[in-house]
Amino acid sequence: MTAYLVTIGLEIHAHIKTASKMFDGCPADYAGAPPNSYVSAVSLGLPGTLPVLNQRAVELAACAGMALNCRVNQRSVFSRKLYLYPDLPKGFQITQYDEPICSDGWVEIRTAAGETRRIGIERLHIEEDTGRLVHADDDSSLIDYNRSGTPLMEIVSRPDVSTPEEARLVFEKIRQILVWIGASSGNLDEGAVRCDANVSVRPEGQVEYGAKVEIKNINSFRFVERALTYEIQRQIETLNAGGSVVQETRGWREDLGRTEGQRSKEFAHDYRYFPEPDIPPLELSAAWIAERKAELPELPDARRARFESEYGLSLQDADLLTLERPVADYFEQAVDAAAVAGSSAKEVANWVLNEGFRLLKERGEPATALATRMPVASLSGLIGLVVKGAITRGVAKQLFEECFDRGADPVQLVTERGLTQISDSDALRVAVREALADPKAAKAIGEYRGGKATAIQFLLGMVMRASKGQANAQVVRSLLEEELAAQ
Ligand code: MN
Repeated sequence: MTAYLVTIGLEIHAHIKTASKMFDGCPADYAGAPPNSYVSAVSLGLPGTLPVLNQRAVELAACAGMALNCRVNQRSVFSRKLYLYPDLPKGFQITQYDEPICSDGWVEIRTAAGETRRIGIERLHIEEDTGRLVHADDDSSLIDYNRSGTPLMEIVSRPDVSTPEEARLVFEKIRQILVWIGASSGNLDEGAVRCDANVSVRPEGQVEYGAKVEIKNINSFRFVERALTYEIQRQIETLNAGGSVVQETRGWREDLGRTEGQRSKEFAHDYRYFPEPDIPPLELSAAWIAERKAELPELPDARRARFESEYGLSLQDADLLTLERPVADYFEQAVDAAAVAGSSAKEVANWVLNEGFRLLKERGEPATALATRMPVASLSGLIGLVVKGAITRGVAKQLFEECFDRGADPVQLVTERGLTQISDSDALRVAVREALADPKAAKAIGEYRGGKATAIQFLLGMVMRASKGQANAQVVRSLLEEELAAQ
């Protein structure tokens, strides 16, 4: 059986979050708008129009490049990529070819097996998106030009990816970073981030790459993994059967669970790239690039590492709290507020992850909803009462849920309902004696006296239930031990 080496490269297209389109003032935020309502002479490619470069798109692309550890090139050039298809009204796409705005970066991923891998980023360039074809049931096709001319960045990885899992992780990581710095909405459902995956296989020992197949327009993390798993298997089976893999573009059919041939892959020379005569080369000063660099926020990996070292969180917890920037911000605000009440950051992380994330999952809400469901002041107030010993953890958990669902203020509820933890020995001794006198306690008492120390748990449970969770469990336990020894 021949062993095969797998080579995968990714091309990720992401909408750049700007108010207007790439080359004119036509508004870009067309989500939900009727077809062909966000169009202009420039985005329709009418003769005689001239493109004007969107400055904000350039800023965000440069920031994205830096966040992906790329070099921002002081000079870059726009080119025309020629192809004829109805979604492209001009007959060419304005893009960047041999001189992109950013080059030579990398992202780091961590596999489920715990291995950290660095995947090279060859380039990041700016271009415009095309219109969208909608294929109707009666075999006719409709064109919507709302998307035509919206700003895109294309991020091309080096062929460093070797498994479908790694491909998914790279896609996830790049999307996370783009959203984190505000360069893209990252909205996969709306196609704001899409991934093309190139994959080839070759027998071990063979130096030159096998024929490359490109799987186009994948807009889900799960699909990228599934499509590549299928495609690698298909190529290996083809070669094992004595056939050869054709260089082509294939589409992923999620409904059928397989890729399907679409068209033979063009070679770069088919596009007849040439410099765009209507846009001069883009010149960026070193000072301008330094200013953009200064604007970059602390990035997810750095923030995760800081959460581990500064707050003593586990890698896993720190990871969960830094998946999205608003969640990381919320956590740190809660840490600061709860520290005043004497709480550790670890305590805050436990409440956010164990109670907050559990309820979000149960109610089907995104992590970013926690800040409104459980405002920082409510969370830190609640944790403050727990660490001071004013309420038990059991009571705090109930209040957390009530606050989450109904927006109640947990601190106020404690006062209103008299939920303060009972630590007073005299009051608790009465409760302990009542529990021990209950016939239901007889069996456990017998076992305890017979030497089974764990039988005390049952008695403790009885007292805790009778106090509706308000009794201080430690005080109850020592009172039980006292009373059982005395009787
Ligand atoms: Mn492209």
